[in-house]
Amino acid sequence: RTGMHAIIAIHNTDLGPAIGGTRYLQYHAAGQAIIDSLRLAYMMTLKASISGLAHGGAKSVIIAPKKLSNRQELFEQFGDFVHDVNGRYICACDVGTSTDDMDTIASRTPYVIGAAKTHRHQTNPCSHTAKGIFLGMCAAIQHKHDTDNFDGIHIAIQGAGSVSHALTKLLTEAGATVTACDPNAAALSQLQSSFNVKTVPPQAIYDVECDIFSPCALGGTINLNTTNKITAGIIAGAANNQLSHPRIAKLLLKKGVVYAPDFVINSGGLINAAMVYDYQDPSLADTKIKGLYDTLLSLFERSAKEKINTLDIAKDIAISRLKQASINTHNGILNTREKNTLPED
Ligand code: NAD
Repeated sequence: RTGMHAIIAIHNTDLGPAIGGTRYLQYHAAGQAIIDSLRLAYMMTLKASISGLAHGGAKSVIIAPKKLSNRQELFEQFGDFVHDVNGRYICACDVGTSTDDMDTIASRTPYVIGAAKTHRHQTNPCSHTAKGIFLGMCAAIQHKHDTDNFDGIHIAIQGAGSVSHALTKLLTEAGATVTACDPNAAALSQLQSSFNVKTVPPQAIYDVECDIFSPCALGGTINLNTTNKITAGIIAGAANNQLSHPRIAKLLLKKGVVYAPDFVINSGGLINAAMVYDYQDPSLADTKIKGLYDTLLSLFERSAKEKINTLDIAKDIAISRLKQASINTHNGILNTREKNTLPED
């Protein structure tokens, strides 16, 4: 009807309906959009599983047309598409989409988070993501430096976008020193005018002498080349798919670098979204996000004890939970949503 070309990639629903953001982006080819959505959906499954949510992972992409005549009609049709999937997929804001778009989708389907005019309105996911990253950093300095305060701790943040802004607030309030970079001069100067931070050009961020390197911009920036430059003993940030290859996690362990796996430390936004959707209760989300401190601390401790990198351990925990859910579903013991609302025993 509108010429919409969209993909809904549902990776797994063993734990419950799959949640994932809707990207609205231009792609050179549909294949690229498919690969992007599948890769991101897999990560959402790991994220939801390790966070103990009754949800699976998904992602959707609307391939932005070269010329868009009516955005509202396009998102209405996307809402119909989401509705056709019959509740197996719940969409939310992501790159290129806004609360207004979610409102349009909500006019066609209830399977949406982040629409302002519904009771499932999620306020600013970035602040919840930043809170989780801050707590992950707290766990990392506790493990690495045996301290619970940021006095004398220097963090190099790659990117000065929304998550970095909220994270820098928490870090500077806690007494940390922050150096940031961003090719977007406006974003960088906004950060500088709000907080006492140093800035460097984007390529120089890897050379900053610091305790924590925090990738909060793009994926794949932790690679063979940059791991040779980064002097920080901790890597902890918001970006998805931070490592250019999973084997980099082994290299980091060998170098004695404490790595907070991206899909664990950046799950605050998803946790908040799930709690708002399931229970309309953001305070439940706060409690669960606080749990990220313990999750990451035990991950770091287990990695040091067993000499296994944190990424492999985290994947193992997430996949074990999925396997158990799948066995339960196949055996018809309990449906996973019931299982998740029962007490621990
Ligand atoms: P954002 O778009 O607000 O900010 C990203 C910033 O990175 C931009 O200012 C951009 O100019 C900058 N950037 C681009 N290339 C750069 C480079 N080479 N060096 C330094 N900076 C560069 O995005 P955000 O919402 O702050 O998210 C940051 C990252 O965290 C993204 O990778 C996102 O996928 C991931 N993430 C975000 C959330 C969330 O709640 N927003 C949740 C999970 C993961």
